[in-house]
Amino acid sequence: MTAIRIHSKPLNKTLEVSRLIGSHKGKPGGPTLIFTGGIHGNEPAGVFALQSVLDDLERNKPEFNGSIYAISGNLSALERGVRYNQVDLNRLWTREKLAGLEDDKVISFHDELVQQKEIFDLMQDILAKETGPFYFFDLHTTSGETEPFITVNDSLLNRKFTNLFPVPLILGIEEFLDGPLLSFINELGYVAFGFEGGQHDSPKSIDYCRAFTYLALSFTGCLSAEDADHDTHFDTLQKVMKFRNKFFEIIYREEIEPDDNFIICDGYLNFQKVQKGTIIAINNGRQLPTPFTGHIFMPLYQGKGNDGFFIIRKTPVFFLRLSSFLRKISFDRLLVALPGVHWRSKTREELVVNLKIARFFTRQFFHLMGYRSKQKDATHLKLKNREAVSREIEYKDAPWNN
Ligand SMILES: [Zn+2]
Repeated sequence: MTAIRIHSKPLNKTLEVSRLIGSHKGKPGGPTLIFTGGIHGNEPAGVFALQSVLDDLERNKPEFNGSIYAISGNLSALERGVRYNQVDLNRLWTREKLAGLEDDKVISFHDELVQQKEIFDLMQDILAKETGPFYFFDLHTTSGETEPFITVNDSLLNRKFTNLFPVPLILGIEEFLDGPLLSFINELGYVAFGFEGGQHDSPKSIDYCRAFTYLALSFTGCLSAEDADHDTHFDTLQKVMKFRNKFFEIIYREEIEPDDNFIICDGYLNFQKVQKGTIIAINNGRQLPTPFTGHIFMPLYQGKGNDGFFIIRKTPVFFLRLSSFLRKISFDRLLVALPGVHWRSKTREELVVNLKIARFFTRQFFHLMGYRSKQKDATHLKLKNREAVSREIEYKDAPWNN
């Protein structure tokens, strides 16, 4: 795809970008960081932040270990300032859909599929020519006002790395979304997660995305803390962080249809506490109460999207410690001795639980062991283990992992 022009409202600036926003190479033997920005076309903040960090590196030429690549997301949607054209580029990353990309006839009809193939091929190229360890970061913004936060698939490696950042960490989004880019990469075992910088058109969102990018460069050892201006960027994010306990878990998603007339009740803010039964939104004239007490998360304020709002809850520290212990001793290997529980395949990545027999199991119980349930019919729960595929060994010498 040829270069396009994208506009930032808060900066009142236009930028010309191609598929590769830019890259920077330092000394060999260091990590490889791959950033994506603008997977949603109405979220240009990440692209502008990445471009400005690359410009800094070009200008200041600090000592740099490894490489950084910045990849743009939905270029044609970025140009138009819309979330997507035909399909959401962040819901296409399933094995079945990726297999379909091999068929040129299929993808030629779909602008987003052509772009997905470009991004996929570029990432494969980088994975083939660089040595790693590899880190993937996907920069986003939200329709409503919010302080920055991280959405992350719950593997121990991801938890440990994201815990370095002074922002709320939301675990378990992969159970509620189909085919986000970062879940796909996480399933390949890499450290991979999303950073949400703030509201789409807020000038602060670009600053927060920049601060996050510099902290990532510092934590992974690409830049020294001094060259990354670590403390300043850490303060920028910590100043707006409201919680002492960082970890949250998604417990509910209000799904909406593309043609729904969905309106969030005015004034609800991201992370605001809500009681069970509170009316959160009106959908097609019908009041929508929350079925759970918790914190409202990513309320949809405008534009396209299938997620009306989520409800999240703080994950108790006890739960985090216990789950980390159970995963380290591979407690799940014992579960298959129980009636109604068996491996789905030889690789022991997936469990199938027959709920008619193993009635006493809850989803929460499997969360402890690092499993995420994806499909559930009336009688069976299918669970995938994040730890089984984790590339722990590749990160063992990373500066943050000791
Ligand atoms: Zn987004």
